Amino acid sequence: MAAALAEKATLNLRILPLLLLLSARLAQAFPVPGASPKEKNTRIVQDYLEKFYQLPPKGFRSARQNSSSVIVEKLKEMQRFFGLNETGKPDRETLEMMQKPRCGVPDSGDFMLTPGNPKWKQTNLTYRIIKYTTQLSETDVEAAIKEAFQVWSDVSTLTFTKISQGEADIEITFVQGDHGDNSPFDGPNGILAHAFQPGQGIGGDAHFDAEETWTTTSSNYNLFLVAAHEFGHSLGLAHSTDPGALMYPNYAFHDPSTYNLPQDDINGIQTIYGPSNNPVQPTGPTTPTACDPRLTFDAIATLRGEILFFKDKYFWRRHPQLGMVELNFISLFWPSLPDGIQAAYEEADKDLVFLFKGCQYWALRGYDIEQGYPRVILDYGFPSSVQAIDAAVYYRRKTYFFVKDQIWRYDNQRQSMEPGYPKSIASLFPGIGSKIDAVFQQNHVFLFFSGQIYYTFDLGAHRVTRVRRSNRWLNCR
Ligand SMILES: [Zn+2]
Ligand SMILES: [Zn+2]
Repeated sequence: MAAALAEKATLNLRILPLLLLLSARLAQAFPVPGASPKEKNTRIVQDYLEKFYQLPPKGFRSARQNSSSVIVEKLKEMQRFFGLNETGKPDRETLEMMQKPRCGVPDSGDFMLTPGNPKWKQTNLTYRIIKYTTQLSETDVEAAIKEAFQVWSDVSTLTFTKISQGEADIEITFVQGDHGDNSPFDGPNGILAHAFQPGQGIGGDAHFDAEETWTTTSSNYNLFLVAAHEFGHSLGLAHSTDPGALMYPNYAFHDPSTYNLPQDDINGIQTIYGPSNNPVQPTGPTTPTACDPRLTFDAIATLRGEILFFKDKYFWRRHPQLGMVELNFISLFWPSLPDGIQAAYEEADKDLVFLFKGCQYWALRGYDIEQGYPRVILDYGFPSSVQAIDAAVYYRRKTYFFVKDQIWRYDNQRQSMEPGYPKSIASLFPGIGSKIDAVFQQNHVFLFFSGQIYYTFDLGAHRVTRVRRSNRWLNCR
């Protein structure tokens, strides 16, 4: 059923000029008008709320539980968890969230097995791999599992030792479908894995859906990342509402070789087991919040009508008509792009978006990276003294590059830097300050972002017409 739905939605997406996404990225696509019949949606909602929000199964519900108000309350609870509008209705945003690949552990209530907040009494824990996946070598599986445990041992007093015989605290196995714990797996995608809270027997054990494609790369699904998440449950952590946290229920790719456990997860594990023995307490990245008054942007670009706001390893997408905003990992859309994009512009005539970091830049067509990138900014004709670009914007066949307090202007038709540049920002755009973080163009207006403020610069009138808080663009008032 899920596959049929995905196929249908993919077809609809192909028709939409706005987003030409591969089916693998379907989960991140903006909602498709009239995608599925009502009945199908009702089934998705029922199924999701039963699995993850303790909605009793249909045949087992009392008259009271069966009333639509119970479903409305459960829907609101789910929407609250994911930071969606609490409509209590299965709107498109909500249905889309329900179809993302995720962990099988419920988001609400006492999860899997024991009520309360169980924890391991000892800190030296053992694990054993009972059954391997056929898709990776045993060595690869063992390495991924070991690294996943290390994510937690690095920030706590916990230690993990692999054993190959006898009963381990945490037993790891790849199984499919119904596997005897009342929480059947569902084939490819959907639920990827689940794990049990600390305890005897099945307690602490982690099960991986053998029907998923498990990898050590950026293609779905990276075993290390899913295992690190599941072991969080094995240690007593529940799901986090922080979309940047490892314990967020939905899958997102990060480069395992540079993976840093986010602060939210560090706080979680240390609440249960206390701080690490390391004299310097480990810290991790925090997720930017849209309405943080100190929020600044790294880069902004339009993309086929959407606006992309880059920040660290994240970007917000703003929908052109609905104005709704969605936070995503850069790596979820472009696994090969680095974090911390510094400048970006859209050359709409060519349907390309260019992204800059340091001396390198990349070109995107829609959501795909073009062949032959990254290239170096020397190609534009910058002198080698220019090592990074703060902001960039394209307008009427020219690209404006902002570097410190100067502007370089590139003629896209002649493909050369214009003579007479660089010029000072103050001389070309009076009133916008001397350092720009990000800029984009819309309706013959440049929107300059500097710190927490943005300036609307009217290109016709050649002056600043408005100054406001930057995060108004993320719907913060
Ligand atoms: Zn989980
Ligand atoms: Zn299981």
